[in-house]
Amino acid sequence: MTAAEGSSRAPVLDRVKGQPGAIGLLRGSLRAPLHAYLFIGPPGTGRRDASIAFAAALLCPSGGCGECTSCQEALALRHPDLAVIERAGASILVDQAREVARMALRTPRAARYQVLVLVDFDLVEKAAPALLKTIEEPPDTTVIVLIAETVPSQFVTIASRCVQVQFKPLDDEAIIEVLMREGVEVATATSVAEAAGGRLDRARLLARDPGFAERLQRWRSVPSRLDGTGARVAELADELLASVAEPLEVVRARQAEELALLQEEAERRGDRTIAGRSVIEDRHNRELRRVRTDEMRAGLAALSSVCRERLAETGVSPQRLRSALAAIAAIDEASTRLTRNVNATMLLQWLLLHLDT
Ligand SMILES: [Zn+2]
Repeated sequence: MTAAEGSSRAPVLDRVKGQPGAIGLLRGSLRAPLHAYLFIGPPGTGRRDASIAFAAALLCPSGGCGECTSCQEALALRHPDLAVIERAGASILVDQAREVARMALRTPRAARYQVLVLVDFDLVEKAAPALLKTIEEPPDTTVIVLIAETVPSQFVTIASRCVQVQFKPLDDEAIIEVLMREGVEVATATSVAEAAGGRLDRARLLARDPGFAERLQRWRSVPSRLDGTGARVAELADELLASVAEPLEVVRARQAEELALLQEEAERRGDRTIAGRSVIEDRHNRELRRVRTDEMRAGLAALSSVCRERLAETGVSPQRLRSALAAIAAIDEASTRLTRNVNATMLLQWLLLHLDT
């Protein structure tokens, strides 16, 4: 390795696992960073971690050693030249966007650059006009990183002015490796990786959820418990819905705790209520919907794997083969419908009727 390669290696970027393409691109742009980057991909694929590591590498006097005070401060989000802007409500607010535009004009305080990370750029909505100019032409010393799941059509122009960095769903091995490094046992890591759909955030949640294995088993038992009656279909659908609701209790308890803390803080300041409470409740509702959808998706994946196992059995009859294939197709269809805000009870009953052949 030459000296030049050594200095552009930026060990701090090694912290991001399972995204060699994205990290390679970022590593290559450290020497002469452009003004704006757009990290695109599903949540839980390392976009946020990568943005912080990239910022640390840009701010570090030795190009991202991961060890020095500058790197440590950046990784702990305490570096004076790094700001991570999270939306406070359902979308990025106009006030927040104006604040970002103002921050972009600052000169770096300690490093060569300042880095602004804007999370959930796809939810910028009405605040977009306040951000456009900033993203298109910030000062030379400002690097902006936008994080988004997809690029809404009204932002295609802005997106085209950014370096686009794609984050793919992680493969199971990468998830297992990270979980095991965090102290999760191999058997648990393997089973949650399968159910996490390439998302590390989901895998972490499941690894600490003692009821998860049992809930998956409930889904897996469904095909053998169907008996051709509508009554059984309704009963099983109710059972699965109750199962989907179980992890929501943990999330609700955590949300109640957050609100209680904020209320305490508000009272200490002499306020009677939490400022922007409805915005926080919107965020909580979104989180609940996401956990619920994720849980349904994991259940459907478990159900699908039972049907796939049937296909692989030796000496399987043509009739059993046909019904397993039809079941897999119905489960795929149900997974697709899940993204369209359908009524969960009706979706499950529809699916179970189709499985019951
Ligand atoms: Zn460093």
